Amino acid sequence: MSSDQSDPVKTICPYCGVGCGIQLSGAEEPADVQFMPWGDAPVNEGRVCIKGGAATEVVDHEDRLTDPQIKEDGEFREATWEEAYAYVVDELERIREEYGPDAVGFFGSSKTMNEENYLLQKLARRYGTNNVDNCTRMCHASTVWALRTSLGAGAMTNSMRDLREECDLFWIQGANPGEQHPIANSQYFRQAVLDGATVIQVDPHANKTTRSFKIDETDRHQHLQLNPGTDIPLLNIVLKTILEHHEDQPEDGWIDEEFVAERTEGFDHLKETLADFDEEAAAEECGVPLEEIELAAEKYATVDNAAIFTGMGMSQHACGVDNVQNEINLALITGNVGRPGTGVNPLRGQNNVQGTCDVGAMPNVLPGYQLVDDDAAREAVEDEWGFEIPAEPGLTNVEISHEFGESVKGLYVMGENPVMSEPDANRVAERIQDLEFVVVQDIFPTETAQYADVLLPATTWAERGGTVTNTDRRVQRMRGVGKVHENTKHDLEILSAVGSRLFDADEFEFDGPEEVFEELRRVCPIYHGMSYDRLGEEGLHWPCYQPGDEGDPYLYEEEFDTESGRGRIEGVSHQPPAETPDDEYPLILTTARLEEHYNTGTMSTRSPTLNRQTPENFVDVHPADAERYGIEDGDEVVLESRRGEITVEARVTEDIKEGVVWTTPHFAAASANRLTNDVLDERAKIPEYKAAAAEIAVTLEP
Ligand code: SF4
Repeated sequence: MSSDQSDPVKTICPYCGVGCGIQLSGAEEPADVQFMPWGDAPVNEGRVCIKGGAATEVVDHEDRLTDPQIKEDGEFREATWEEAYAYVVDELERIREEYGPDAVGFFGSSKTMNEENYLLQKLARRYGTNNVDNCTRMCHASTVWALRTSLGAGAMTNSMRDLREECDLFWIQGANPGEQHPIANSQYFRQAVLDGATVIQVDPHANKTTRSFKIDETDRHQHLQLNPGTDIPLLNIVLKTILEHHEDQPEDGWIDEEFVAERTEGFDHLKETLADFDEEAAAEECGVPLEEIELAAEKYATVDNAAIFTGMGMSQHACGVDNVQNEINLALITGNVGRPGTGVNPLRGQNNVQGTCDVGAMPNVLPGYQLVDDDAAREAVEDEWGFEIPAEPGLTNVEISHEFGESVKGLYVMGENPVMSEPDANRVAERIQDLEFVVVQDIFPTETAQYADVLLPATTWAERGGTVTNTDRRVQRMRGVGKVHENTKHDLEILSAVGSRLFDADEFEFDGPEEVFEELRRVCPIYHGMSYDRLGEEGLHWPCYQPGDEGDPYLYEEEFDTESGRGRIEGVSHQPPAETPDDEYPLILTTARLEEHYNTGTMSTRSPTLNRQTPENFVDVHPADAERYGIEDGDEVVLESRRGEITVEARVTEDIKEGVVWTTPHFAAASANRLTNDVLDERAKIPEYKAAAAEIAVTLEP
């Protein structure tokens, strides 16, 4: 916290994973805090997008939770912190005694800082459960799984800076940096494109990325507008095109034979998988002309440095792990990993979704992605913590919510909104009522908060300090201007108070975030060489194994962090979405986010500037479908799936393919997640947000 509120403080934008630096202006009162540019901020050099510029608007919003509340006879009443803590501790103890520690789920938050998520997962494990997770489960759990298994680390292989300087071709599949990562797009990727780099976009929806690179206006770039859920066949065409060309003309070097031989394993499996693969049938399934895909394959295989960007269009499928594995296959057979300007690069959504995973707020890993069922790793952390950690991985957040009222009786939610963020949200709202006890720790009364038994009012990002980790693994410090509401508390203080009371021990007592970070780095090998002093204003890219390490802007120069040291290639085959169109629901619904909004809209829909841009949800409908259904642009329509319906405005546009409709999850009254399917990827347990069967009808109302 700043000692003198009249000095501007340097911190990090609370929205997306780009990690732009901003300043909070010197305010007489924290409530008057204003945005100021930070001209030499390491990531963005002063530039921000609309969200970053409006970030301070909600700090003093009238809806802020200002005092602890306890629900009695269905109504919230104000309580003291001591009352609230005592209630939380009594109920957590009761549930553990009656049902065991796995009867409680703990939800961390990618909108809170590393230290806070570190302490939350430590609290869960001290309680005796690995049922701790965060919203990466909803966005990139499958990416993390595939990257960790096949390359070594669940993160971007490269950095925005080396991509800007060295990349010749961006393969952007299921990601939309023009909308979701605007500063990364404009300041890094677009600069590379202005210097001659090519863009291949693979997405069912034409969007701001399409427009920012003027993809439709030049032959150099391509937009492969595939049907939702056909990413595997499309990439298999790319892979087979490269394999066949290499067989005929090995001298062209489309496959990097030396790299494959010396640094990978599994190439034969890929070849076997593709031996009988029918490219023409696959192209038809994708809805993209075969020659366009083959041309894109040639472009990827013939540049010096090609980088893949992968987003939630790939990860949010029941086959999400296989989707990302196929991108890894493409990068590995062409030798596009381990050098500047290459790699497989997930663009992370929230400002600390990378860090929340790094610090172990997941059911299967401890800080630094050490597996909970690896005895040696677990024992090393136990030695530092001084208590036993359960050896079995816990439940993921969607699995926890599937168990509400069954094996799970209690829920501790820090800064999350599962009633709106999870798929099949209507069912989540029903099931959460079967819980015996719910704690919500947040800044606003979210849709989840109404089901809480206790509300713990937290401070916002602008009021406190700590660290966050951006999409290219850069750990940066945040700094705050002080409390707006006296009776709120920092998340760290709340967790520390609950932990100290629950376990009657000093292992949750810390003198501020730096002391927590010092403990974190002792148990987290990839952060081990960092300190607040070393982070300074520039931050450091992990891994930083030893004090003095400068961090790595790109990974795997010498070897992969797998058991064999080799990158793992594995052929994968098409798995259609769990729901495909039929007579009753003849359309495919897919979902995505908007530049001006953020997740469940808890902050962004309360921001006047952002809300003015898009105050309500809408659905994109292709003109041919609009004609068939008698829909005019601007009509109010009911969009329906097997799980619910929402009423939204129709936008008739060729941005979407015929037979596909597209909407967003940001608005409580009409969120896409009332419609989405909660079927999970078997391994990563990520839900299939990106494809569901749907129907649409014009409302009878004028
Ligand atoms: Fe914030 Fe992301 Fe915009 Fe940067 S690009 S200002 S981090 S929302």
